[in-house]
Amino acid sequence: MKNKILIANRGEIAVRVIRAAKELGYGTVAVYSTADEHSLHVKLADEAVCIGGNQSKDSYLNMNNILSAAISTGCNAIHPGYGFLAENSQFVQMVEDCKIAFIGPSSKSIAMIGDKATARKIAKANGVPIVEGSDGVVEDQDEGLKIAKHIGYPVMLKASSGGGGRGISIVRSDEEFINAFERTSMEAETSFGDKSLYIEKFVESPRHIEIQIIADAVGNTVHLYERDCSLQRRNQKMVEETPSPILNDIVRRKIGMAAIKLAKAINYVNAGTLEFIVDPKGNFYFIEMNTRIQVEHPITEAVTGIDLVKEQIKIAYGKPLSFKQRDVKISGHAIECRINAEDAMHGFIPSPGKINNILFPGGIGVRLDTHIYPGYEVPPYYDSLLAKLIVHAPTRKEAVKKMRVALEQFVVEGIMTNIEYQYLIMHNTDFIKGQYDTGFIARFNALVEAENNE
Ligand code: ADP
Ligand code: ADP
Ligand code: MG
Repeated sequence: MKNKILIANRGEIAVRVIRAAKELGYGTVAVYSTADEHSLHVKLADEAVCIGGNQSKDSYLNMNNILSAAISTGCNAIHPGYGFLAENSQFVQMVEDCKIAFIGPSSKSIAMIGDKATARKIAKANGVPIVEGSDGVVEDQDEGLKIAKHIGYPVMLKASSGGGGRGISIVRSDEEFINAFERTSMEAETSFGDKSLYIEKFVESPRHIEIQIIADAVGNTVHLYERDCSLQRRNQKMVEETPSPILNDIVRRKIGMAAIKLAKAINYVNAGTLEFIVDPKGNFYFIEMNTRIQVEHPITEAVTGIDLVKEQIKIAYGKPLSFKQRDVKISGHAIECRINAEDAMHGFIPSPGKINNILFPGGIGVRLDTHIYPGYEVPPYYDSLLAKLIVHAPTRKEAVKKMRVALEQFVVEGIMTNIEYQYLIMHNTDFIKGQYDTGFIARFNALVEAENNE
């Protein structure tokens, strides 16, 4: 019987997974909501099944409909992409119960390390440094207040099941804490169905550095070095690059080893990312693990030459990794810009609607992962990611120049995008020097707004 994969996602990542599956010679089944009837992933897959209405909860989060679609089309594996059900251990458990291979870690791994408060405990128990904070979730506001006072402000209140930069608040005093506690816990309840919160010391001016790991089911665990994702707006990544301009080889090796140690400690299988923050002194602290393929995985693919999604699929079908740690060599520099449907120059207002025309960038070392095409209508129901523009060049300097040209030649008409904003970032002196932290975008934004008001 031919292997057949259902892709439980939409947008660029569904397209990305379909390509990998096809290259492996496997069958592909797309699922889609009524709003996505004309989406590219539907056109590119061998088969497509409508799984429900516009709202995510009716379609891309509808576990029963997705499983029915997989069973009725004879799929023997499901790739979840990122977001939606990718880190939902209940869904993964259901997939396992149906004897369908889940292209990701086991439901047990997700339940353990996917819970951010538990992940901190596991890291600590394995000697991996974590940011000072609560031992697990805080029971109530009073307990939280005591912990916050003890570690000292500013602190972060974080949803234990959170993701995508949501369910996080920075608080700088008792008063702010009292204001934020109830609100953040409600937000966590509505976004993630789990109101539990934990506390971390807020690290000032850090870099976000994460390690890509991948492990097969026969005992090989390998890391593919780091990605620097410090360019964030409201804790959401906008630009990513690898290698990190600030890591020296000693710290690079230490973080890589810490990531491998943690992944091995939990017998983790498939692709995963361990996220760390690095303070200005070079101390690193584990913050969370993403138990799935990440948005920014293509920059790692660019510098290592390894197709992470194909490896993920092979691992799920029981095959060993096709390379060893010593085979992973970094070549050159890669940068990714996330292109979103939003008016970035005027407060990032979402901008769904019909795309009349597009001019795609190209050339040597330019990769564009996208689901948009001329005439495509961007629905208002899902996240605003339109495309990921990835460049790869021998040096960082050349990569920055390549990105400028690619952005210049990327035209999307009919809706607003952040292409111009990304172009401005690529010309910022601090960015060019590689001197930035997670506060960069907020400061940069203040400059853009000041210019707008002149
Ligand atoms: P990455 O960590 O791969 O850089 P993001 O954090 O930007 O990706 O998240 C990618 C997508 O997944 C976004 O649409 C985000 O809203 C969603 N997402 C991430 N984590 C979760 C989660 N725990 N629950 C629901 N959605 C999530
Ligand atoms: P999510 O699950 O939404 O991705 P993370 O825990 O990864 O949440 O945090 C998102 C971002 O918030 C990080 O990439 C980092 O920029 C910032 N952040 C998280 N924890 C801290 C901290 N303790 N101090 C400073 N910044 C933090
Ligand atoms: Mg994160």
